Amino acid sequence: MELQTFYKDWKLLFYSVDRSCVKLYIQSQQKSNLCPSCNMPSSYVHSRYWRVIQDITILSLQVFLHVRARKFFCDHSACSQRIFTERPSDWWPPYARRTNRLTTFLKHLAFSLSAETASKVSKQYGIPASADSFLYLIRKEEIPPITQPIIIGIDDWAMKKGQRYGSIVCDLQTQKPIVLLENRTVQEVSNWLRKYPSIQVVTRDGSTEYAKGIREGCPHAVQITDRWHLFHNLTQKVEQFLKKAFLAIFLLVLQS
Ligand SMILES: [Zn+2]
Repeated sequence: MELQTFYKDWKLLFYSVDRSCVKLYIQSQQKSNLCPSCNMPSSYVHSRYWRVIQDITILSLQVFLHVRARKFFCDHSACSQRIFTERPSDWWPPYARRTNRLTTFLKHLAFSLSAETASKVSKQYGIPASADSFLYLIRKEEIPPITQPIIIGIDDWAMKKGQRYGSIVCDLQTQKPIVLLENRTVQEVSNWLRKYPSIQVVTRDGSTEYAKGIREGCPHAVQITDRWHLFHNLTQKVEQFLKKAFLAIFLLVLQS
């Protein structure tokens, strides 16, 4: 299969392959480009330059696109921008050093693994990226606004296991977390709940702090012990009962 097949909108000028990477030299096939300020097309080329953008791997070899990019004049009289660079938005955003599909792949790793593990896995795939790069991708991701939740669940969330705990709140209808609270105090929980009068049902563990926080912040909501904690508590009680029962039977047998 021709390499050109993977870069349909681009003209593949030439390429080189060595033991570690593939370099593809490409240029846009579009005759004109839209000015980012006035959105008017221009085909009046000012200059050309090379930029390097990393793409997903081929056979575990790193792929670098050497793009022969152009700068255009904007000759629209009402526009304040005189020169602009071409922006192939479908492939990579302005000023990016990675293609969108490579960024998407790295984001999948970032949100599926710890930053350190993602860094190790990415190296195995021939795309070395540091743990800090993965943390940067996570922080850069836009968080969707919280819609008015109706049924939520609240539970402890370990910021540092055994040392520092906050609270995680999940929308049980979308099955997604919606907020991480700094701690699990009555005030923190009730302050957050007051912002969402739409909440009708809250599931929680047996914590009296949560119970009080929900009563203060969302007094009309029905509180339900969540299934995990219900079974966990039930199992503990049954175990305690059976231990006592077996001990009593054992003592009776000894006495008889
Ligand atoms: Zn313009």
